[in-house]
Amino acid sequence: PEAITIQELANRMAERAVDVIRMLMKQGAMHKITDVIDADTAQLIAEELGHTVKRVAASDVEEGLFDVADNSTDIEPRSPVVTVMGHVDHGKTSLLDSLRHANVVSGEAGGITQHIGAYQVTSPDGKKITFIDTPGHAAFTAMRARGAKVTDVVILVVAADDGVMPQTIEAINHAKAAKVPMIIAINKIDKPDAKPERVRTELLQHEVQVESMGGQVVDVEVSAKNKTNLDKLLEMISLQADLLDLKTNASRPAEGTVIEAKLDRGRGPVATVLVQRGTLRVGDIIVAGAEMGRVRALISDQGETVNEAGPSVPVEVLGFNGPPEAGDRLAVVENEARARQVTSYRAHQKRENAAASASGMRGSLEQMMS
Ligand code: GDP
Ligand code: MG
Repeated sequence: PEAITIQELANRMAERAVDVIRMLMKQGAMHKITDVIDADTAQLIAEELGHTVKRVAASDVEEGLFDVADNSTDIEPRSPVVTVMGHVDHGKTSLLDSLRHANVVSGEAGGITQHIGAYQVTSPDGKKITFIDTPGHAAFTAMRARGAKVTDVVILVVAADDGVMPQTIEAINHAKAAKVPMIIAINKIDKPDAKPERVRTELLQHEVQVESMGGQVVDVEVSAKNKTNLDKLLEMISLQADLLDLKTNASRPAEGTVIEAKLDRGRGPVATVLVQRGTLRVGDIIVAGAEMGRVRALISDQGETVNEAGPSVPVEVLGFNGPPEAGDRLAVVENEARARQVTSYRAHQKRENAAASASGMRGSLEQMMS
């Protein structure tokens, strides 16, 4: 059932909340401004106050936020977005760290780059590659579950001294299910007991056929520790990206996905957003999940303040009223009223879902279905 808070109802009618409460009192109900009333009551009150009521369905609220059919203008090339996956301790974090620093000219900005959850590096061919810096299958699955497809290429890290392990197989399954091409980074090649050939054979047993085994999957032997072959890995990613022919429209309102978000003591809610289409600008009115805001500042992965961020560019976004959740999709909307409509609707949905699962409805439904 649909519902609305008294405050929100008053806002939408541009009436005072006290007048709404007075109306409700006339009908024999006592309410506070924060109370939620059902849609029928809200309609009655609105009509009593001389407003015409147009009830909107969920589909109307969400309509037009995403996937506007403008494929004909998807013409500008964009950088690939890469996620690193693999078994625990096989070197995901080390590889991400090494790649991140491979590019930093020593001395530049003190050699310090801040961590925002995603970053870009330049491949030897001069093209940029965006890395999602939150390794782990959880993030990948969470984003997929919310319908966010952020990754163009998966780097599967397999330690040459350990071989294919349970989470390696899990990662293979994730990548296959999401139809995302994989590049294999056979890591820890510096170790005396490294057996890269064994890795290739084990991969074959899981239907991942690398080129030297007659397949199409590219593999690169690397050492995250010694920074061996990182340029080659970047080149392979760039080649793979060329094959994918990634293009989008940069000149439209931005769409993106929240990579991570937090409440920062000094700066308030901060969200790292990967822009996927269009361009995000300071001043834009944005929604993500049940949160809204106006972009107050954008900060690049280099820690620099920027005025805008285009497709495949990760930025920190300041100006949300509250932190959204990782995996939430971001959209720019035309005005604050629209942002309020979307987020108040979603917040309400969220509360209902929480209430439903708390009361065990979910559980019993699942039991009935299984
Ligand atoms: P993650 O769990 O996949 O993120 O793995 P980490 O990056 O934390 O690495 C696990 C361990 O392997 C750490 O002790 C790293 O120092 C080590 N390690 C990572 N890459 C290499 C490598 O290329 N060579 C060697 N010898 N050790 C590595
Ligand atoms: Mg790690």
